[in-house]
Formats: sequence, C-alpha cells, structure tokens
Amino acid sequence: MNFYIMTLFPEMVMDGLGTSIIGRASKNGLLNIEAVNIRDYAFNKHQSVDDYPYGGGAGMLMQAEPVYQCYQALRERIGKTPRVVYLSPQGKTFHQEMAEEFAREEELVFLCGHYEGIDERVLEEIVTDYVSIGDYVVTGGELPAMIMVDAISRLVPGVLHNDVSAEFESFQGHLLEYPQYSRPEIWHDKRVPEVLLSGHHAHIEKWRREQSVIRTAKNRPDLLEQADLTEKERKLAEEILEGQYGKKPE
Ligand code: SAM
Repeated sequence: MNFYIMTLFPEMVMDGLGTSIIGRASKNGLLNIEAVNIRDYAFNKHQSVDDYPYGGGAGMLMQAEPVYQCYQALRERIGKTPRVVYLSPQGKTFHQEMAEEFAREEELVFLCGHYEGIDERVLEEIVTDYVSIGDYVVTGGELPAMIMVDAISRLVPGVLHNDVSAEFESFQGHLLEYPQYSRPEIWHDKRVPEVLLSGHHAHIEKWRREQSVIRTAKNRPDLLEQADLTEKERKLAEEILEGQYGKKPE
C-alpha cells in the first residue's frame, strides 16, 4: 500500500513511521511511505508557504498555491486522482471501521495543515475526506496523519507477523478486547485467571467473550448499541450498566 503525506515537516513524519513494525514493513516492501515537502512547491524566493488570513484574526494560514502544486505533482506521479485525506479537527472522528475502509485503497494521500490551517479554496478542490483524531486541537496534521497511517498499515496483510492478532482486537464487533496475561502465573499476589491455564479452548473463548462484554459495558457503553450480543450477553451488559454486577448480596 502506498501512503503519500503532504507536509511542511517531512522528517517528523518519516522519523516517526520509520521505526518498529511500520518501519520494518516499509523495509520489506509491504508499505511505501513518502513524505512530500509542500515547501518545495512555494513559488516565491523565500519559499514561504503561509500568509495572514483575510479579515484579520490570530495566526497565519497555509496558502493555496503551494499545496495545489504539490498535489498536482503527486497526482501526476501516481498516475490517477487519489483519495486525499485532510487531517482536521473539523473532520469525522477516526475509528476502526474507517481504518478498515481506508486499508482497501491502493494509495492514500494525507494533507497536513499547520498554523491556523489551510486556505479553504484549495481544500475544496483536492480533498476527498476530512478526518479528525478527536475533539481537541494539535499544532499540525503530522501526528494525526501518523496515527492514521499506523492504524491502517497494521491491517495490510503481512504487516503484523501474526495476522490473527489484528482480527481479535478492541472495536471488532463493537466490543473492547478482553484482559490479557503473560508469565509469571502469580505477580504481586495476583493470579492469572484459572480458565486461561486450563488449555480448554472453548472455555477460554467463552470467558474472553464475557470479559469483552463486561469491559465494554464498564468503559465504553456507547459501543454496545451496535454490538451483536446474545440475549444472555445483553442481560450481563445491562447488569453492569445498572451497577449490579459483582456486588455482594446485602
Ligand atoms: N484553526 C483550525 C481550527 O480551529 O479548525 C485548527 C488549526 S490546527 C492548530 C493546525 C492543523 O493541525 C490543522 O490544519 C490540522 O491539519 C491539524 N489538526 C489539529 N487538530 C487536529 C485533530 N484533532 N485532528 C486532525 N488534525 C488536526
């Protein structure tokens, strides 16, 4: 899969995505991640890319033309009109299903804003998707783009060594993942739940599913609305929501 990140800070993006699992997948040719410097397309001799906003107000705005020229050069290189994601606090909030949908693309272009953002006119011409990483404002689109590239990349076949580990994770089926334990069996007087040592796969699966329901009801009850639960599981979730679960009888 090919990722192109239009940014004023290419080294920030490449440093962040060049290590660990994503870095290894790039070296192995499963991913191609390129940061494209918008400043290379500045049309003035100082290579400045920002200016004051019309109408006044604090801060500077990235100008339309360098962003547009950068995009045009990229589009020519890719050989087709790509999907362009503008990272913006005003976009739709990123979530796992979105990551799954983006992972089906062959190439994705990310546009990172900085300062007070980007001249609206170029956004209207080139952007296909507006995506936010949450209801807060960060200084630039680079970290949000890195988060998206990471979340999408790990869904590309072969990027995670054990492909199964991407299958049973939080948000699959609108549930959070069950708690996990590794050696030793006892740590700080806390024992690994007995069922996990039993070797009985059906029992383990049943326990994990129940734990997922409990955890989701406790931490993210909003997800449950869309979760496909059995009647028994729905009842368990309701008990948690009502605060009854685990309470000792009076
Ligand atoms: N003035 C803009 C507004 O109020 O909508 C915020 C500009 S922000 C300081 C600069 C850049 O950071 C944005 O253009 C965007 O690319 C990125 N950014 C900031 N917060 C973000 C978020 N929550 N999700 C995605 N991108 C974000």
